[in-house]
Amino acid sequence: MLPQFDIIQPRSLDEACEALTKYQSAGVVVLAGGTDLLVDMRKPLIPEHLPRCKGCDPRTGTAPRKVNKPPSYLIALSRIPEMSGIAVSEPGEISIGAMTTITDLCQSRIIREKLTALAQGADNLGSPLVRNRGTIGGNICNARPAADTFIPAVALGAKLELRSQRGLRLIPAQDFAVGPGKTVREEDEILTKIIFPVSADRTGSSCIKLANRKALEIAVVSAASLLTLDIKGKISSARIALGAVAPTPILTPKAAAFLSGKDPSDANFLKAGEIAVSECHPISDHRGSLDYRREMVSVLVSRSLAAAFASIIV
Ligand SMILES: Cc1cc2nc3c(=O)[nH]c(=O)nc-3n(C[C@H](O)[C@H](O)[C@H](O)COP(=O)(O)OP(=O)(O)OC[C@H]3O[C@@H](n4cnc5c(N)ncnc54)[C@H](O)[C@@H]3O)c2cc1C
Repeated sequence: MLPQFDIIQPRSLDEACEALTKYQSAGVVVLAGGTDLLVDMRKPLIPEHLPRCKGCDPRTGTAPRKVNKPPSYLIALSRIPEMSGIAVSEPGEISIGAMTTITDLCQSRIIREKLTALAQGADNLGSPLVRNRGTIGGNICNARPAADTFIPAVALGAKLELRSQRGLRLIPAQDFAVGPGKTVREEDEILTKIIFPVSADRTGSSCIKLANRKALEIAVVSAASLLTLDIKGKISSARIALGAVAPTPILTPKAAAFLSGKDPSDANFLKAGEIAVSECHPISDHRGSLDYRREMVSVLVSRSLAAAFASIIV
């Protein structure tokens, strides 16, 4: 059963920010598509520790029974028109409203052409039902290390616009998450837009997800790459992001730096994949072992670089 809550449906961002500030002390969260939030809201009924587990008080052996308080209010963002949609905001920038659904990303021609890795990340997320309700803003704010649109957003150098009654700030996507489910977002802030630099000429990108099933599955490892060539056909810059191999989505700056000035060859992509392994910190879990994940980082990075190169139109 879901706990009881009231729902607030603001018609503008100003109203939403005001309500988010006003109901802080009573307990309030933002509702986008609800595909993560409504599942999570059933969890507070489960205590954080079981009796005599490692987290318990060592003297008494009893569970501290730390139970998260369910929110009393949900602020639904679905009626705020400026929070949805894809637009070329400035020359050289594509701006995506945080309430834009994953399906909208999959179906957008401009996203597929200019931000190919993001379109591929969106294709890989959940199932048609989940993609129809789930939003890019919710996927990023939920901050799971395997989040399928977050990884390409990091690779593509996106910036996140956060708004509150105190003002606006822009955070690079790679600095947003600080742990699984934890971000630098303050409780009174709303993610309004995700702003992507539009790729220069001779640029391609790709995102590859490895999962144990083809749909409705969280990544074992995912890799997203962005590659730009110079006029002579050498690699002028590269960015590689990884998912599910660290507490947050990560960049692999050493692997990217290795590629700079090199030929876009399979041998160099393989070497970059090997370097990326030294930059990730996977764990073993029911989806895959630490060793398997490390092996797959190498494979997926080289494949995503090759796919990014293949997508470059010269
Ligand atoms: C069956 C199923 C399969 C799934 N498969 C995948 C998968 O393959 N890959 C994957 O990455 N995810 C998957 N998910 C997770 C989920 O669908 C996505 O993360 C989705 O994009 C979340 O978006 P939402 O709009 O539903 O977010 P919500 O559930 O509404 O919100 C998620 C969190 O973000 C906060 N939030 C949302 N929007 C904002 C905002 N604009 N500003 C501030 N805070 C905000 C909410 O308060 C909440 O804490 C799956 C979920 C389900 C139920």
